[in-house]
Amino acid sequence: MLLQLPDPESAQRWCQQQRAAGRSIGFVPTMGALHEGHLSLVRRSVADNDVTCVSIFVNPLQFDDPADFRSYPRDRERNARLLERVGCDMVFLGSLAGFFPESDTAENIPLQDPGPHAAGLEGDCRPGHLAGVRTIVERLFRTVGPCRAYFGEKDFQQSLVVEDLARNMGFPEVTVCPTSREPSGLARSSRNVLLNDIERQRATCIYRALTRARAAWRAGVRDAERLRAIMREALDAGGVELEYADLRDPLAWQAESPQGNLPRAQALIAVRIGKVRLIDNMRLDAAGSTVGELHVHPPRTVRRTASAKG
Ligand code: AMP
Repeated sequence: MLLQLPDPESAQRWCQQQRAAGRSIGFVPTMGALHEGHLSLVRRSVADNDVTCVSIFVNPLQFDDPADFRSYPRDRERNARLLERVGCDMVFLGSLAGFFPESDTAENIPLQDPGPHAAGLEGDCRPGHLAGVRTIVERLFRTVGPCRAYFGEKDFQQSLVVEDLARNMGFPEVTVCPTSREPSGLARSSRNVLLNDIERQRATCIYRALTRARAAWRAGVRDAERLRAIMREALDAGGVELEYADLRDPLAWQAESPQGNLPRAQALIAVRIGKVRLIDNMRLDAAGSTVGELHVHPPRTVRRTASAKG
């Protein structure tokens, strides 16, 4: 039976009870609009832990576009049904007032410094977004307490910010899980339901751009500008509006685009299709995925699981 709790306070009590009873807790933070990508994280948590809890909170602090916040899909009953089916034990909701009782208005909530991994790409395109993510995730971690927390590699830069937060806080243990994809290769996303049929077809060029870059890497191409050009070509042909198609060293994040021959590469893409913004990424070098590897400084708290196409 899925227990549904209305606020962080009651969720915190439940988590304390579980720990007092000696049970390990797995935690999957989400904004709802659940899809197979979220459920793959929940399944992983259920397999790893005695109990699993999920948070559902559409966090206004991380939306740089009010229209995007308003149109974000919300369906509480469907979410609960899906979570129950995959063996989640508890789901909790929240409000800004519930998470930040010390702040009387949303404007008074102090945003966390998102840290070094927020520089560049998402940090440039969505000012304040990763600070908003880090601010709410800090509260979510404090609510649940010591646990294993699961995040998706699909939001690559976000996963680096969250790993950095967990290292600073000393908990939880963060596991980053592979990107779940539709059969077309399109990364599953809550925003995919906002695409019409033509837009959904267009969106498949993102995966094409990533796999072409990976194929080029496997054929020996190492030059950053050449790899970027290969991605841009596929995205232009797909008729999407490009925000970025770039590369980073997955083990040493830098704000700037790398130049010249690369030793390792994570390809990262953001596009707009109509009103919908989509992001995706892929590890190009031999490791195939950054999952299973350590990112930056040896983070004891971080595990990455093996890559899989869902
Ligand atoms: P969201 O509800 O979009 O905030 O996502 C909640 C968690 O699910 C984040 O850790 C995301 O990275 C993860 N996630 C979203 N889409 C996918 C996907 N296609 N595959 C794996 N994880 C995902």
